[in-house]
Amino acid sequence: MISIEEALKIVEDQTFCLPVEGVGLEGCVGRVLAEDVYSDMDLPPFDRSQMDGFAVRSLDVGMSPARLRIIGESAAGKGWDGHCGKDEAVRIMTGARVPAGADAVQKVELTEEKEGHVTVLKPVAAGTNIVAKASEITSGETVIQRGETITANMIATLASFGYERVRTCQSPRVSILATGSEIVDVGKTPGKDQIRNSNSWSLAAFAREAGANVRLLEIAKDDLDGLTGIVDDALKDCDCLIISGGVSVGDYDFTKPALRNAGAEIFFERVALKPGKPTVFAKRDNTLIFGLPGNPVSIAVAFYLFVRTALLKMQGASLCRLPESNAVASHDIKGAKGRDSVLPVTLSTDGNGVRIVETLRFSGSSNFIRFAQANALVLVERDSVLRKGDIARTFPLR
Ligand code: AMP
Ligand code: MG
Repeated sequence: MISIEEALKIVEDQTFCLPVEGVGLEGCVGRVLAEDVYSDMDLPPFDRSQMDGFAVRSLDVGMSPARLRIIGESAAGKGWDGHCGKDEAVRIMTGARVPAGADAVQKVELTEEKEGHVTVLKPVAAGTNIVAKASEITSGETVIQRGETITANMIATLASFGYERVRTCQSPRVSILATGSEIVDVGKTPGKDQIRNSNSWSLAAFAREAGANVRLLEIAKDDLDGLTGIVDDALKDCDCLIISGGVSVGDYDFTKPALRNAGAEIFFERVALKPGKPTVFAKRDNTLIFGLPGNPVSIAVAFYLFVRTALLKMQGASLCRLPESNAVASHDIKGAKGRDSVLPVTLSTDGNGVRIVETLRFSGSSNFIRFAQANALVLVERDSVLRKGDIARTFPLR
């Protein structure tokens, strides 16, 4: 049985970036940048006034009140091109260019205007109320790096530097296939021996969060021939197929034989992980295939560890694995024999600002109701106990 780390390495080695395409500003949030973003101009592009008031020479108003002659006006979008000389002032608006010669702006509230002259009531030091040219950024600097996921607060930057379209890797097309003769659609009332399909919907949500275009396939029965045909078809038009269920050693677990029949190569089928031991990773041509054990919590853990990493790598993300942070265990957490445990937990901050981790009163990998309260995963190494007060490796999920 391979370790989580070995399994992750295999997934990463077998996953390639998808082709790059241009995406318009309106549709790019959540996509991963496939190019560095540069500033194409200085910002501000000129010395810019922060106030409505008068542009002056600070020297002239050092002994205020000082009476200056108004020689022009500088408005946003229509600056004044003359030179501000001794005992002169230029009326100026917020966002407008500060004229040559002036080195400060006094706000209108601290001035009095009369008959073509302004009396500046208080002195202003050089630089006051002026944002200097290029003080925010100079032309040609990298402002966002390739591999970063575009967020809403980056849009102003993209727009300001002329990126009507940005280059991003394509979103992975992910197909999701739930297997199990006991599984019925959410809209149905389960009959005797049946349960509703929750895995397809969880996986769809997780995959969308990771930037995928998701397609849900119809639930497949535990029947080898039928499953082989469905898998063969599904692999024709997706970048990644996620199959839920049928990966363990039961008499009706047909996912692996169906994959082999459909011509897929299996890279691993058991990981020293709890929950999630029978996780399968396979490929046919360049299409990735994950077979995940059907318990809803196993599905989530295996998704976050392996599938999420692959989907982000396909998009060229610079950080593909779950981000990690340390937290203090609030009680003893026992690991499993021979397998590393990755358990749903809650992370919170105590009164002293210390981050603490607490397991959910977790009754097993089928307990999706408790799992709904988790905001992180914790790693407990095999054959060990994380003692109360120990520092634990945790993986925040939101
Ligand atoms: P399996 O991996 O097929 O052995 O399934 C393990 C457990 O997960 C069984 O109790 C299944 O009923 C349950 N399960 C499998 N598929 C789903 C699904 N799509 N939605 C909810 N539970 C499932
Ligand atoms: Mg099953």
